[in-house]
Amino acid sequence: MVRIIAAVLVAFGLAACQTEEPTVTVSSQNAGDTRVAKHLFGAMPSGSGQPSQSFGGYARGCQAGAEQLAETGPTWQAMRLSRNRNWAQPITVDFVQDLSRFAATQPGWEGLYIGDMSQPRGGPMLTGHRSHQTGLDADIWMLPPERLNLTAAERESISSISMRRNGGAYTNDKWTSQHEAILRAAASDPRVARIFVFPGAKVAMCNSATGDRSWLNKIRPWWGHHYHFHVRLNCPEGATGCTNQAPPPAGDGCADAERWVDNILNPPPPDPNAPPPAPRAELTMANLPGQCVGVLNAE
Ligand SMILES: [Zn+2]
Repeated sequence: MVRIIAAVLVAFGLAACQTEEPTVTVSSQNAGDTRVAKHLFGAMPSGSGQPSQSFGGYARGCQAGAEQLAETGPTWQAMRLSRNRNWAQPITVDFVQDLSRFAATQPGWEGLYIGDMSQPRGGPMLTGHRSHQTGLDADIWMLPPERLNLTAAERESISSISMRRNGGAYTNDKWTSQHEAILRAAASDPRVARIFVFPGAKVAMCNSATGDRSWLNKIRPWWGHHYHFHVRLNCPEGATGCTNQAPPPAGDGCADAERWVDNILNPPPPDPNAPPPAPRAELTMANLPGQCVGVLNAE
């Protein structure tokens, strides 16, 4: 299975932020609407004036009443402002700010540089992520912020730094105990459902964790995710239109992460009987929850 996913990712050159996809069944009120959703959602400049709500699943949904994370706060800066992806549900904006306050307590960290959250009304994007559609996902840069007065131009040009070695089997010398502390704090937050990071980082944390290990359950090894980690929140309490992903399997997941590392270091031979990966169809409006039409059309 891992091999198939790898083949798909390679075939489509999708490096950034591909994450475990929940299977979402949508009872669509907009059957027959063949408009390609990413063109519509990718063109929305601002949030909808509706009560805040997520509709659908992380990779097949949208968001109403999104908040825009302030471009600069006391302990954070939003990066790549031109992408206009610093929009999310209020719970996500709160979470990011809370985590940034914790990060600012770490030596060498003034706070956090925040990467992509969601588009103003969520939904599929013209470039990049498959998830991040419901305002409940956020990418956090691995680069420790030394200052929080970056200009807009600097936020376009500065890059994060990679934490990986040997294709993600190990962390490199940029990886610090502060990274681990920040990831641990994020994973310990009850608002968080899972966090995606490269396999070597998960194993590093498995090896250094002391005391309570339950938080490791939410740290999920995945492709990419060595310039940033990806935090996915649970649907807020009472959000009936929002679809959660099944929780990670019980346990700390460390043996699973070791298998990922083994597969990186000693890739299994390709399966000659594996079917060629099917091209992924574009999501149309009919593939999204019916409420997403309302989100698009709202003032
Ligand atoms: Zn992401």
